[in-house]
Amino acid sequence: MTTIINSIILLGILGFLSGSFLAFAAKKFEVKEDVRKIIVEASLPGVNCGACGYPGCSAFAKAFIKGEVKNDGCLPGKRQGVPERLQKISNLTDEQLNELFEKNENEVEKIKSEIESM
Ligand code: SF4
Repeated sequence: MTTIINSIILLGILGFLSGSFLAFAAKKFEVKEDVRKIIVEASLPGVNCGACGYPGCSAFAKAFIKGEVKNDGCLPGKRQGVPERLQKISNLTDEQLNELFEKNENEVEKIKSEIESM
């Protein structure tokens, strides 16, 4: 009987230690996504049509934040006001975008509407 109890206690300790290590590693090696890329991608139509010359909206967003494409590169987005939105995002500093994210609790739709009202 004591062998079973000892095994359960040992497994519990090992489980706790493994969980603690994984939680620590997840925090230590966390990869933070670029806030600007998140908001640029959310401002695109999201149809992944490839008309911009990139395989999808995510790739276009990455290229846009690197300055490789202009704000009017998304053809379907031209009628939806995407160039104007991207211009407004470009005018914001990283600190301003981070503040917007924190203020709106990382809710992209709220951030988008706040940027549009600027
Ligand atoms: S053209 Fe616009 S909607 Fe189509 S993949 Fe490129 S960014 Fe996305």
